Amino acid sequence: MILPIVGYGDPILRKETQPITADYPGLKQLIDDMFETMYNADGVGLAAPQIDRSIQLVVIGFRPYDEATDTYGEEEERHVLINPEILEEVGEKQYFNEGCLSIPDIHEDVLRPESIVLHWFDENFEEHNEQIDGMFARVAQHEIDHLHGKVFTDRLSQLRKTMIKRRLNDVAAGKVHPKYKMKRTNKR
Ligand code: ZN
Repeated sequence: MILPIVGYGDPILRKETQPITADYPGLKQLIDDMFETMYNADGVGLAAPQIDRSIQLVVIGFRPYDEATDTYGEEEERHVLINPEILEEVGEKQYFNEGCLSIPDIHEDVLRPESIVLHWFDENFEEHNEQIDGMFARVAQHEIDHLHGKVFTDRLSQLRKTMIKRRLNDVAAGKVHPKYKMKRTNKR
């Protein structure tokens, strides 16, 4: 089932989320619904607060990019992160152009470490403690921010923040019309 996506300005995107256990009701269905919602919106990651659940759950899916051949792999890389925790930042910080399904039409370069050491549980509640890199590390960091009430525009310079302020206000006022369904609350 495709779920409506919560937009910038909704207080749930500013809340600290709660960890979950394996007996969280309807977890498997929720993960399926989050993947379906993400793919429908052409996203590469989705965090639970974006579908109105304040829990520590993230889905990620993308086709890996091969720099050597400048092509995208056929096989999709998929990850489910439950209760993820960044233990260490590794390597140089790099800029990468990010967007967010909760903030349609805004894309900005964001500085983040290229690799992280991450502790998480997958959809089978198997424990992982690994260094992750590349696209996986980038998307994971963006989504984990959501679990702590942060969005990518918080990480921009003061100048960039000022420049996009009007557009952010438009999103908060519901004056955006992406091709996917957004949750409308107190919006006109
Ligand atoms: Zn996002």
